[in-house]
Amino acid sequence: MKQSPDLMIAQAAMAPGKITLDGFLGTDARNLIDILIADNAAVERLGYDHADLAARMEYLRDAGARGLGEYVTVDKMYEVKVDSVRGKLPCPFGDQAFIPKVNTTVRRKKDGLILTYSDLHIHMIREHGFYEGKGCLFRLEPADIVTVLGVPEKNTD
Ligand SMILES: [Zn+2]
Repeated sequence: MKQSPDLMIAQAAMAPGKITLDGFLGTDARNLIDILIADNAAVERLGYDHADLAARMEYLRDAGARGLGEYVTVDKMYEVKVDSVRGKLPCPFGDQAFIPKVNTTVRRKKDGLILTYSDLHIHMIREHGFYEGKGCLFRLEPADIVTVLGVPEKNTD
């Protein structure tokens, strides 16, 4: 699909060495608009919207923050570690958002599955429905977020 000038600018900001060393798109050759459409469909198929996933990520980050960089047990099911370093990263979508460099690692105790995400991920998912490109080291698959983090079932009434 043809994309807007805004998304062209965002896609350029996602290239390696612009905001982050590795960039946001990995080996994904699709246009940003097509990545967004595909992930939006994937999240809908799972029965959620982006805000549901972002809210769960934020909940676990907040619950893990009391560990001050060490793993803490959350809701008996998870071990969560929240690391932060100085500085902020600009959101590549050009909305003037500057996001603190905070990384959250969630380990599901029953099977050891691990998911790591940043505060920038949470912002980009909630505000832009963006999970990074395929082949990007930091891409988050919506299905993995739902499974590993246990996003609560949506209230369907
Ligand atoms: Zn943004």
